[in-house]
Amino acid sequence: MKILVAVKRVIDYNVQIRVKEDGTGVHTDNVKMSTNPPDDNAIEEAVKLKESGKVKEIVAVTVGEEKAQETVRKALAVGADRGIHVKADSYIEPLGIAKILKKVVEKEKPDMVFLGKQAIDDDCNQTGQMLAAILNWPQGTFTSKINLKEKTVEIVREIDEGLETLEINLPAVITCDLRLNEPRFASLPNIMKAKKKPIDQMIAKDLGIDIKNRIQQLKVEEPPKRKSGIKVSSVAELVSKLKNEAKVI
Ligand code: AMP
Repeated sequence: MKILVAVKRVIDYNVQIRVKEDGTGVHTDNVKMSTNPPDDNAIEEAVKLKESGKVKEIVAVTVGEEKAQETVRKALAVGADRGIHVKADSYIEPLGIAKILKKVVEKEKPDMVFLGKQAIDDDCNQTGQMLAAILNWPQGTFTSKINLKEKTVEIVREIDEGLETLEINLPAVITCDLRLNEPRFASLPNIMKAKKKPIDQMIAKDLGIDIKNRIQQLKVEEPPKRKSGIKVSSVAELVSKLKNEAKVI
């Protein structure tokens, strides 16, 4: 069995995001970049399945500029077998990424594609769903537990009413939640070994598909600053302020 895992390079989740003065986006120069956090869970789960003997090969794929290769290298250092870097010079919307991933799926023929449930930069939560739709494959989204069987996969997913368990046919697309597992750190020897693992290159614009963006971003701005709070000395004062000043009761 083979798993393809999509990993995206994003601004590290610890970085304080700075909006550009002209409102065209956020600063990314000299900013720490990392793997999108749920994509680490996706890789970890694939590696666990390989360790359990149920999976033979893990291929990590990223779409992005030259430096996005680092993200694939990190996936290789924690256990992926080989990588694919689809070069793209600028941001591609989820539909374009899904179309590119479909091309990779047609070439690699995996039994499952793992993605993160959401990218923390664009917060789209769309790529996995769109990929499943254009492949016409079953999908399991927001997955917090995976039980791989012979021809199906049982997954647990978080929904408004609680936890839902589904059994879906393979091949399938699965988007991974942060609750799925605890991603491991890459050891130094494994980082060194990963340097020798192969990364195939592809060029997004040469794939013969329409990946042009369809959304026009008008403006990016900081959220309004929160006002500082106050301390009240009694419940009566609190009620009075909520009623007369905040006017919320
Ligand atoms: P999104 O739909 O943008 O929230 O992204 C959901 C998931 O799709 C991410 O967690 C990744 O697994 C995958 N993905 C999105 N963009 C890329 C990309 N440029 N390269 C590789 N995987 C991606």
